[in-house]
Amino acid sequence: RPYTAAADRYEHYGYRRVGDSGLRLPPLSLGLWWNFGDNRPFDTQREILRHAFDNGINHFDLANNYGPPAGSAEENFGRMMAKDFKPYRNELVISSKAGYDMWPGPHGTFGSRKYLLASCEASLQKMNLDYVDIFYSHRFDPKTPLEETIGALDTLVRQGKATYVGISSYSAERTAEAVAIAKDLGTPLVIHQPSYNILNPWVEHGLLQTLQEERMGAIAFTPLAQGLLTDKYLETTDVVRQGGRRSLEAQLTEENLTKVRRLNEVAQKRGQSLAQMALAWLLRDGAATSVLIGASSTKQLDENLGALENVDFTEAELAEIAKIAQG
Ligand code: NDP
Repeated sequence: RPYTAAADRYEHYGYRRVGDSGLRLPPLSLGLWWNFGDNRPFDTQREILRHAFDNGINHFDLANNYGPPAGSAEENFGRMMAKDFKPYRNELVISSKAGYDMWPGPHGTFGSRKYLLASCEASLQKMNLDYVDIFYSHRFDPKTPLEETIGALDTLVRQGKATYVGISSYSAERTAEAVAIAKDLGTPLVIHQPSYNILNPWVEHGLLQTLQEERMGAIAFTPLAQGLLTDKYLETTDVVRQGGRRSLEAQLTEENLTKVRRLNEVAQKRGQSLAQMALAWLLRDGAATSVLIGASSTKQLDENLGALENVDFTEAELAEIAKIAQG
């Protein structure tokens, strides 16, 4: 079935400026970390991507190692690019990253110039693209000079392989250092991608302030704590065993589940589902520019889009949420 995007796709909500740059992102962006590898039917993936774009989500976030297995998400996305999205390439904001383990040997991980340049080229080939809109250093590398890592990002921009660049999971201090190097080089380092959700607000202790001072954008990953901040585990945690996300299983403690149940009561009082409140909370004033969601169905996507109907919180609600999160 050939794809024609919905004509009203830009009429749902406003786009948010990434720091002081000209780049604008939708409030919700779609990440392909987990549900777009060879673990899910291609047709389901395709349906989710089409539905996202029809609803104004024009930012798709990938990385070299997304799958499972590592690399398969970019390959599947490349097939969808060729089949569905080629006519819309100029409208799309597509990102990729390198920094975690990808191939054997010392130059298949972390942040050397050798790894970043080779990996970006490999990602472009897999995704059937000439360039990505954002290329990220996926994590700080303590054993490579930061000048080298940021210099590699700069080279990718000059080669025309990346339009903007970003960093992911860098501390506030390392972020400030990266920005200083990028400024010297004239590199458009415009965005930071940190983990951030109600149960994991580490960015509020320095990083968000640094990003504001440096006029950079923030795009939050694991906004729903991989599904913990949804209705899914309110009754039973058995569901997760089938999925096998180990990093999620570790979070399913009685302490966290008690918090989740109490947060769900706050959400209900606001007339939102827990997932909707968790996403809205990240989009409140002064927090994230965009929120990177994962979804395994269009139903989840629709529920999550519903979050945009109310992203305002009273002081009392914010205080209650913070109190529950702190335990
Ligand atoms: P979330 O915290 O949003 O978790 C997504 C998962 O939550 C879904 O896969 C689904 O689980 C469940 N879910 C989503 N919506 C609902 C709903 N309405 N009701 C019930 N369950 C729901 O994000 P992810 O952890 O998946 O990360 C999002 C993106 O962030 C990634 O795809 C990636 O792009 C980025 N990321 C970046 C990292 C980095 O180092 N830079 C690291 C991790 C993620 P299920 O699949 O079980 O149905």
